[in-house]
Amino acid sequence: MIVQTSAAAGATHVGLVRANNEDAFGINDDVWAVADGLGGHAGGEVASTVAIEELLQQLPGDFTAAFAAAHDAILEVAQHHPGLADMGTTLVAAQRDDDGHIRIANVGDSRAYLLAAGRLGRLTVDDNYAQELLDRGGITADQARVHQGRFWLSKALGLGDAVAPQPKITTVPAPTGRLLLCTDGLNSELSDEQIALALGEGSPQESADALIEQALAAGGRDNVTVVVLDF
Ligand code: CA
Repeated sequence: MIVQTSAAAGATHVGLVRANNEDAFGINDDVWAVADGLGGHAGGEVASTVAIEELLQQLPGDFTAAFAAAHDAILEVAQHHPGLADMGTTLVAAQRDDDGHIRIANVGDSRAYLLAAGRLGRLTVDDNYAQELLDRGGITADQARVHQGRFWLSKALGLGDAVAPQPKITTVPAPTGRLLLCTDGLNSELSDEQIALALGEGSPQESADALIEQALAAGGRDNVTVVVLDF
């Protein structure tokens, strides 16, 4: 699936190994989002899709309230479909605020990166065990990238808790640049250098397509989803 607006484009691919694509993304004029669903049966697909739809209805506006609404919307669907009881999703979103700044919020391990002045920086911190070990100094950044603990999320939306997980909110530290939102199917396959190269090429759509192609060429072991935004 491909969606494009003037300055933003998204693309998603099931990958080369998985049977279903449990990722989802959404784009409108001032809001961009990517979600990576988890859960058995159709749960992951439902959770990520419900989260994106709810978020696009809620934003622009208060990130914390919008993430809570997405969490509640997943719980609501799960209540009416017992087979989907264990579903959840990551969510990373960007919006243009009234002051013109782009802000990012995330829960889980889907990421935001910024390419500005030729340099790639990561804007989000993962909610997973590998990140916790890294924070405690137990492993290095290189070890965290391949550590099994990256699969154990410490936070996700919809996973049965009555209280919605709080998103971490960051302001993009540049007046202009190119923003990438992605699921871990991208950053598990590609190095920062590979991401920076593909992100720097062509239009947002060309860049999004190139990122997907490279993740597939590197193995495509997971669903892979990107949204690329020039601001
Ligand atoms: Ca994934």
